[in-house]
Amino acid sequence: MLESRLMALLSDAPLPLREAERLVREAFETGRLERAPAERIGRQLTADARLRDAVAEAALAARRRWFGTVVTVSPNVFVPLTNLCRDRCTYCTFAKRPGDPGARTYTLAEVADVTAGARRAGCIEALFCLGDKPERAFRSYAEWLAAQGYAATADYLVDACRVAVAGGLLPHTNAGLLTQAQMAALRPWNASLGLMLETTSERLLQKGGAHHAAPDKHPALRLRMHQEAGELRIPFTSGILLGIGETTDERVDALLAIRALSDRYGHVQEVILQPFHPKSDTKMRGSPSAEDDDVVGWVALARLLLGPRVHVQAPPNLATDTLLERLLRAGVDDWGGVSPITIDFINPEAPWPALAALRARTEASGFELRERLPVYPEHLLGAPEFFEPALRARCLELADADGYARARTPERSGTATEAA
Ligand code: SF4
Repeated sequence: MLESRLMALLSDAPLPLREAERLVREAFETGRLERAPAERIGRQLTADARLRDAVAEAALAARRRWFGTVVTVSPNVFVPLTNLCRDRCTYCTFAKRPGDPGARTYTLAEVADVTAGARRAGCIEALFCLGDKPERAFRSYAEWLAAQGYAATADYLVDACRVAVAGGLLPHTNAGLLTQAQMAALRPWNASLGLMLETTSERLLQKGGAHHAAPDKHPALRLRMHQEAGELRIPFTSGILLGIGETTDERVDALLAIRALSDRYGHVQEVILQPFHPKSDTKMRGSPSAEDDDVVGWVALARLLLGPRVHVQAPPNLATDTLLERLLRAGVDDWGGVSPITIDFINPEAPWPALAALRARTEASGFELRERLPVYPEHLLGAPEFFEPALRARCLELADADGYARARTPERSGTATEAA
């Protein structure tokens, strides 16, 4: 009996709805979904509406059991410290070369200015998101960096984070691939660090693939950084991209790789499910957008795969008109960073929803929107070993008794701008 069930699971035959329902019910009960059933479900998720509904129903029940009805959001200011990048991912418009229109590196004085404005607007998080190791590709930038007294962007970043903390914000940094020593230097100045795993597909590194000209997108290197962040006990954000050429089995593989590291180190606080939407001035402009059904199905499957310790985030500015409510019903419990004063520099064509509108839509769906820090209550209150004591003390000053953001009154509400 067991053997025949295993054979059925391992086969390529379509999964009967009743069997899929049994598997997701079991995943809900045990908090665990394994590779073989997840792959079979994943192959049918986009095309089979009834199966997708069954997965979403189980995912919603799971998130209610694990996180209640709370949905979180982090009011942030986006600080693209430099948009120079040595990689060339074929879907990206963020990366620039020196001299390109829009190429920009912030001075520390500009970081201080942005920080002050963000504090006045009620932001808590300084999201440092930047290109990967531009000093290795561009001599003029390396010389500028050296003139400031830095050998690497990661060293400059430490001082930028220090400025943001001094200005009253809590940094969360996503600077691409960092060494363990670089992460250790950032740890005292960051509430959490992040790196999108994006995919575990090595095929995408081949000619014609989205990551062919992006040496920092090698999955093994990115997984190593996830592991080293775990060894350093740093609350960590990961994520996958949906629609850059990966297969459904590769999506399952990426989610399981993150789960394995989360199980081992307990540091993965959230996983972002980020849909691909083509940008007109990129090589992937002709590739199809991730469909809403695809995004909903994979959010739900990720919810079941990742289990009770990891939050599932979907960026609300990348959701089409009616998608927010569907994402909530599929198990999303975090909207990530939403800025009242800066645009999403990675997706400048996608404006953030106003926080008030996001709250209204979240609450109309039966959930409670709570503002959070760039770290979740589970780590902040329950795992003090994940923080430098001084930074944890600063986090606690900004938190309420539940570990979410303390209520505060912005001095003014800003309008999202490119220049901050
Ligand atoms: S996606 Fe990131 S690593 Fe890739 S080119 Fe853009 S900035 Fe660089």
